[in-house]
Amino acid sequence: MIEPGATIGIIGGGQLGRMLSMAAAQLGFKCHIFDPHDHGPAAQVSASFTRAAFDDRAALELFGNAVDIVTYEFENLPCEPLAILGDKLRPSARSLAIAQDRAREKQFIEGCDARVAGWRAVSSLDEVEAAVAALGTPVVLKTRRYGYDGKGQAWIRDPADAGAAWDAIGREPAVAEAGVDFTAEFSVIVARWADGRHSCWDSAENQHGDGILRRSTVPCSDAVAVQVEEAREATLRIAEALDHIGVLTVEFFASETGPVVNEIAPRVHNSGHWTIEGAVTSQFEQHIRAICDLPPGSTALAGNGATMDNLIGRDVDRWAELVAEPDLHVHIYGKGEARPGRKMGHVTRISPRA
Ligand code: ATP
Ligand code: MG
Repeated sequence: MIEPGATIGIIGGGQLGRMLSMAAAQLGFKCHIFDPHDHGPAAQVSASFTRAAFDDRAALELFGNAVDIVTYEFENLPCEPLAILGDKLRPSARSLAIAQDRAREKQFIEGCDARVAGWRAVSSLDEVEAAVAALGTPVVLKTRRYGYDGKGQAWIRDPADAGAAWDAIGREPAVAEAGVDFTAEFSVIVARWADGRHSCWDSAENQHGDGILRRSTVPCSDAVAVQVEEAREATLRIAEALDHIGVLTVEFFASETGPVVNEIAPRVHNSGHWTIEGAVTSQFEQHIRAICDLPPGSTALAGNGATMDNLIGRDVDRWAELVAEPDLHVHIYGKGEARPGRKMGHVTRISPRA
């Protein structure tokens, strides 16, 4: 067990690291952030900070020696240098390696007996065209690596669009994925302990716009609720197969024929931000508890439900109006410029108990 007073290393310095660090501080831990950028959201609220490139092995080794345990909040890390951290790293580099390559990820999910949309790995225009012929339109091309918030994706609605889509994603190795005609999107977030104990929160129903999460709502609609049990079972099979320690998120499409996995994230997730005020134990605190091997906290609802809205780009300029709403929980991440599409903060409304 890693006890309060210890130092937790967090690789990645964004808003997820910030909220992990704040939850860890509440339990009496100190956090040490490792990130290539100065003045990031996480370093602002943490005890120490190393500024170094993610592949700087010497810096990673010093960092590993300075902390009691290490976790990550960012998915696009080179995996190989993490080996220097040994078994201080939780979740393991394997969870990361699988989640960060869309082809490996889909193969792995299928191996866990969970459904994904029809897909093909592609690395040339010929292969893209063959995939479109096999899958039918619409198809979405997604780069195998480095995608987030819908970046590195292009839709093919007509076979004639294949060349333009291949150019749009930079002719990178990709997956071609059949468009899913979903009724809704939702996620299952599970925290898993080294001994296999685990706990899930109620599933949030997620609305996206332009590939970016806009709103998560709990409880989810009835159309989603009937698919949650099957989705949870699939999530647990995935977590077990990864031997995952900490929080794991699986994003689902609710389709006419049941839950279809979109993707997995080996970490806390934007669709779980509502748990900070909306659940007895937040996803951030539970992740810290799981990696430190403290007992699980309750994941029950704190009120009757919650709605979380992201503040994207200039939305954050409305902060004065938002903080003037006495019941609104306002989170601002301390980022610099409010570029279009950048997640700058979020707000959560809790539905009171009747
Ligand atoms: P993030 O990591 O921020 O969740 P991402 O860049 O990995 O985003 P995806 O989750 O792959 O992106 O896709 C973003 C959104 O685009 C999905 O939540 C969904 O709304 C839509 N989308 C992606 N793939 C499909 C698909 N095969 N069929 C229908 N819609 C899709
Ligand atoms: Mg996604």
